[in-house]
Amino acid sequence: MNEQDIIENNVEEEKKQLSVESESIKCSGCGSNLVFDPETQMLKCSYCGATEKFEHSKDVQEIDIGEALSSNLVWGNEALVYSCENCGAKIVASKSETATLCPFCGTSHVLEEKELQGIRPTAVIPFKFGKDRLLELFSSWAKRKIFAPVGFKKLAKTDSANGVYMPFFTFDSNTNSVYHGRLGFTKTRVVHTSKGTKTETYTVWRNVSGTYSHFFNDVLVNAGNHLENGKIDRLAPFDNASACKYESRFLSGFVAHHYEKSIDECWSSAREDMAGSIRSNIVSLYGADKVGYLNVSTNHEDVTYKYMLLPVYVLNYAFKGKQYTVYANGSTGKIIGKSPVAWWKVLIAVLIGIAAVVGVAYLLSLAAG
Ligand SMILES: [Zn+2]
Ligand SMILES: [Zn+2]
Repeated sequence: MNEQDIIENNVEEEKKQLSVESESIKCSGCGSNLVFDPETQMLKCSYCGATEKFEHSKDVQEIDIGEALSSNLVWGNEALVYSCENCGAKIVASKSETATLCPFCGTSHVLEEKELQGIRPTAVIPFKFGKDRLLELFSSWAKRKIFAPVGFKKLAKTDSANGVYMPFFTFDSNTNSVYHGRLGFTKTRVVHTSKGTKTETYTVWRNVSGTYSHFFNDVLVNAGNHLENGKIDRLAPFDNASACKYESRFLSGFVAHHYEKSIDECWSSAREDMAGSIRSNIVSLYGADKVGYLNVSTNHEDVTYKYMLLPVYVLNYAFKGKQYTVYANGSTGKIIGKSPVAWWKVLIAVLIGIAAVVGVAYLLSLAAG
């Protein structure tokens, strides 16, 4: 076989795989769509309830960063991409799905785009629970919001919740750094003065230089703009142990948020993160607590990436004309977000607080008087 034949063969092979994948998205019993069911981790027929197992491969591969944009790693025609005219989010859905609402802003201004471009995910942490469980979690979260209005717990509905896979890149790198700098060490000494002895602190400065090697594993970078880092930090950790090799079947019934920051952008913010930890590792290696200056020059080797999808439920609801969004970690169930505030409850709490302060002041005055 010559090279051309091999390429054509590969293309044929890929087409076969894709058609097998899209065929198995239909129920063999009734022909309805099969969607990923988090409770059983299987595909489930949305009409007759039949389930179908599929392989969850744990063989998630690290890919050399130089190969990130080679053709065999990009999205094929296995999924569709929609863009939201209102908030700009790009949403990837499997072909059997039609995205009609934007999961981020809840509006219906979503348009199908011609082509889905960019890197295909390599790994996915599947959703662990479905929307019924999500509503239970929402209502116990709501119960803990003591200043929230009475009726708001009932506002969350399954149809206002969307399971969205959020885009992340993780990077591995073998780093070798050369550094030189001046580090400070705080010491204490006892000095004798005319008024007696006292303890004072002073700084000892030392010039340092050397080499430092460190292997970074899975430095996580948020590749989307629609869920800020602060929120991701509060939703974390995700259940990394259950990460599987990406498979379009995980997407069925869910959508994925297409990455908005390129792999190059994400790699440079990962490098910044790594530079920060290298610096603080060097400083703590010496046990120093002050830095005069520290110049570090780092060489990265064997850099690999994974493009990982993390499960987040986005739940939109309206209360008295205002929109609220809460987010849930799709693997641990942790919920974050704002709830409406009933001002009369706050007022009562403030009045009770004032009464308590006045009461204590009165008792104190009695005790003093
Ligand atoms: Zn069926
Ligand atoms: Zn939107």
